[in-house]
Amino acid sequence: MKVIEAEERDIEIVEARSEVEPLVEFLGRTRVYRVGEFHAYIEPDVEISPEKVGAIKILNISAHTPQPGLKLLRLSGVAFKSASELEKYLEWLREASMRDHRVLGRRLDLFGFYEEAGQGLVIYHPRGQIIREELIGLIREVNERLGYREVYTPHVYRAFLWKISGHYDLYKDKMVLAEIGGEEYGIKPMNCPGHILIYKSKPRSYRDLPVKLSEFGTVYRWEKRGELYGLLRLRGFTQDDGHAFLREDQVGEEVKNIIVEVMGVLKIFGFSGEDIKIYVSTRPEEYIGTEEMWEKATKVLMESLEELGLPYEVKEGEGAFYGPKIDIYFRDSLGRWWQCSTIQVDFALPQRFDLTYVDRDGSKKRPVMIHRALLGSIERFMAIILENFSGRLPTWISPIQARVIPVSRDIIPYAEKVAGYLRSNGIRVDTDFGEETLSKRIKRAYDEAIPYIVLVGRREAENNTVTIRGRGNIQVKDMPLEEFTKILLEEVRKRSLTQIVAEKS
Ligand SMILES: [Zn+2]
Repeated sequence: MKVIEAEERDIEIVEARSEVEPLVEFLGRTRVYRVGEFHAYIEPDVEISPEKVGAIKILNISAHTPQPGLKLLRLSGVAFKSASELEKYLEWLREASMRDHRVLGRRLDLFGFYEEAGQGLVIYHPRGQIIREELIGLIREVNERLGYREVYTPHVYRAFLWKISGHYDLYKDKMVLAEIGGEEYGIKPMNCPGHILIYKSKPRSYRDLPVKLSEFGTVYRWEKRGELYGLLRLRGFTQDDGHAFLREDQVGEEVKNIIVEVMGVLKIFGFSGEDIKIYVSTRPEEYIGTEEMWEKATKVLMESLEELGLPYEVKEGEGAFYGPKIDIYFRDSLGRWWQCSTIQVDFALPQRFDLTYVDRDGSKKRPVMIHRALLGSIERFMAIILENFSGRLPTWISPIQARVIPVSRDIIPYAEKVAGYLRSNGIRVDTDFGEETLSKRIKRAYDEAIPYIVLVGRREAENNTVTIRGRGNIQVKDMPLEEFTKILLEEVRKRSLTQIVAEKS
């Protein structure tokens, strides 16, 4: 990789609009420069100050045809003040690209994208499905504690419903609509309307509230091709969605409970303390509901955070038009910030669907609705943790938790016994009875990111023990099989970030 230093540069940048008239006409305000024998166009808000640039690296070159007949070459790259800063960035970039979840997904056989199936639509392979199910299992436990009752709603509704919810008008560009039997239907971009219908299915009294419903709901949003990016940006993805229908006086309690659980979930993956940031977004210029409603709800959100002793920042005017919200960001091991968890107050949908409950005094009141997601999109969260852990996921969520490898073929019967014992205890285990050398089989297990390699030889077979190779040079010889199983189960039950075996070695 060559780093161009300032001294070596031999480029004269001259403004040259008149030399390329058709281009200028198309590009409008964009500035055009002559750089040697090339013409370069630069976005109006980009500042060029060659004197500030000490080192440049072109990272990508691609053809760009903004309109027929106008062929451009798009160069993208980075510039830094010094070669050492650039080198540091490139090092980071190399690390990030090695951890790219799309690469890991292929290498670890987790999921795939197929031209025949269409872009932005992920197909989970068996190992990826296990990760997905573990994430869902984790959130199911959280929902249980929070009192959300799980429901299941269809993927397609009459357009009629999307018109009531307002998605038809607001979201039409991203919705998949089809006419069937003379009526228009739409694939769901959000799960809310189904849950609202459940709320509306019977009269509700103040005593029935809160009504809390959750769903691992797969939604479809037809994003532009260029915006799709692996599991991070899909056209179909599953939200760990949930909706609470509350009395006004119940909002604070609910918000606090959700935040506590979100913190707990993030901590399981090692995100806590300084690596978490919380934002409260307030009333934008265009909004529905009264100012008073907004003020009250925003205050409740802020007070909830204060009562929990959690610092937050305010994003003035960045709430959705239908209500204020809390967004929780975390920083991964590569220093990138991600937003997954969100708690949104909604004044609009209860109004659009005319939701009511009968209050203590017999009067009809409108419930407050909260939309909440803890992981956000299961797929996106999976991408983030794959990159965060470089594919080496904690044991509890690893598709294969242990692999039994006999040192020689005559030990196969014992290896089968060990695998059978682990499996009967609920451990996801497999075996490698391949003909290759031991070191090759160990390397294969390592490459597949399997947390525990269980080696068995003659001595282990005689003593009913196992020899363990864990991550980061963990090695435990001759451990009783029962003891290893117990430790492994404890590690899985606790959803431990580290390998407990290390503490015993
Ligand atoms: Zn919703």
